[in-house]
Amino acid sequence: MKFCIIGAGFSGAIISRHLALQGHDVLLLDERPHLAGNCHTSRDPSSHIMLHHYGPHIFHTAHHHVWEFITQFGTFRPYINRVKAVSQNQIFSLPINLMTINHFYKKTMNPREAEEFIYAISDKTIKNPSNFEEQALSMIGKDLYYAFFQGYTRKQWGMDPKKLPASILKRLPVRFNYDDNYFSHPYQGIPEKGYTALVESMLLNLPIDIKLNTKFEELPFKEAFDHIFYTGPIDRYFNYAYGHLPYRTLDFEKQEGHGDYQGTAVINYCDENIPYTRIAEHKHFTPWEAPHLEKTIWFREYSRLAQEKDIPYYPIRLAQQDAMLTTYIQRAEATPHVSFLGRLGTYRYLDMDVTIHEALKACSVIDHALKTDTPI
Ligand code: FAD
Ligand code: UDP
Repeated sequence: MKFCIIGAGFSGAIISRHLALQGHDVLLLDERPHLAGNCHTSRDPSSHIMLHHYGPHIFHTAHHHVWEFITQFGTFRPYINRVKAVSQNQIFSLPINLMTINHFYKKTMNPREAEEFIYAISDKTIKNPSNFEEQALSMIGKDLYYAFFQGYTRKQWGMDPKKLPASILKRLPVRFNYDDNYFSHPYQGIPEKGYTALVESMLLNLPIDIKLNTKFEELPFKEAFDHIFYTGPIDRYFNYAYGHLPYRTLDFEKQEGHGDYQGTAVINYCDENIPYTRIAEHKHFTPWEAPHLEKTIWFREYSRLAQEKDIPYYPIRLAQQDAMLTTYIQRAEATPHVSFLGRLGTYRYLDMDVTIHEALKACSVIDHALKTDTPI
């Protein structure tokens, strides 16, 4: 059978590999000049620093099968994301942990005391938090919310946190011990040769027709395919028939120097008067290489509402789902011979591991449909 896959990020690459291994005719295309979608990495030619071109990517998962799958394609080095945050001219540890709480309140509490203290200052009138702000106030109270989340979130999402879903905040843990690991997942790491090498190795030696620098819209004979897997923006597929769904895009301001600029990989800037959200110094994502690298490169990250020409990085899901999104989702579900996948195709804030998990699940759905001769 003949398949076309749009987008060579993790979603598209996994589906393409699966279909090619089964002997199908596979065309994989991406409008960008490289594989790996937003996870794309390459080495800076002069310094050899591994650069994450669309923002820093740290792999983390609780899914054993996802870890088993992805580590077939390259060696992962252990990497723990330990983020620092600047708030009101002081530097703190994130996610919120016992160090953050004691430092912020100038106390020396133990875990039990800290938990009781945070409980006492949390807003207990909020029983079922229905948005980001309510989630924060009910979990940590207003001091920590204003210091670390309100300003950063307004910069990142361009709106009042009351309009955002509670799920965005639930991405981050709050801990009453000194564990400052940004993620709670048992499997964490960074691929030694970067993410693009990983995707290259996933597609290596398979009979897949890969066309980069190619927009799906420009492809003739779309009806020649038995099925299409689309991982681009859902509204773009329908030529924005019901309007433009909102996305946040990012501007990365690149700076270079020598030695160690900030002493760690990521520092968040939580105050609203600082226009960027965070600074990532990329050589710290490869700590096994960093000591040997004389040069350093860091990026200031600015978030803004995407225009049609911009890269759509973050789908903006609201606490109250938008009617336009519902219409696109219904239209996608009713479109025969096309499956919508991935962060943009389903308009969800998905991490790499969930993207991979869902792409592997889609492979099982494909197998079942082909075996039973039913539509995918
Ligand atoms: P993408 O990687 O976006 O791939 C889609 C591809 O489709 C793109 O390459 C695009 O060029 C192509 N495309 C779209 N439309 C068309 C078209 N019409 N024609 C041709 N090609 C098209 N996840 C983590 O687990 N850990 C992290 O630390 C992490 N950090 C992140 C940081 C940032 C700033 C962002 C934005 C995301 C981060 N993520 C992280 C999430 C991660 O990037 C996604 O989970 C992953 O990239 C999703 O893969 P995908 O294949 O669905 O989409
Ligand atoms: N966030 C915040 N302050 C921070 C870090 C995160 O307010 O210092 C909020 C912000 O709204 C962000 C969300 O928590 O979008 C999730 O954070 P995460 O670090 O997962 O964001 P990502 O790395 O996906 O941009």
